[in-house]
Amino acid sequence: MHEMSIAQNMIEIIRDEMRKSDSKTLKSVRLRIGTMSAVVPDSLSFCFGLITKETELEGAELILDIIPLRGFCNGCTGEFEIEDYAFECPSCGSARIKVISGRELDIVEIEVN
Ligand SMILES: [Zn+2]
Repeated sequence: MHEMSIAQNMIEIIRDEMRKSDSKTLKSVRLRIGTMSAVVPDSLSFCFGLITKETELEGAELILDIIPLRGFCNGCTGEFEIEDYAFECPSCGSARIKVISGRELDIVEIEVN
């Protein structure tokens, strides 16, 4: 389960930030997850809970902002949401599509006490 290593990475980053700001407890973490980032949100929440259990991070809220997959069409320069992994422009049918969002996996905000 690769969500486990993602959660572990995340927690290292959070711990670093907490050390820098001399914080004791973690209130919440906000993440942006693209629908094409290959992360299953439920699975990530589960792993995060497991890893933080009985640590100073236990009980922190994990807030997940899901970013839809969006494409830019090089044919007609339109932007649109890509559904069902159909990499084809809905306006002009071009397959020259650039993915502009939906691959995110970022920590946006960490709230500490
Ligand atoms: Zn197009």
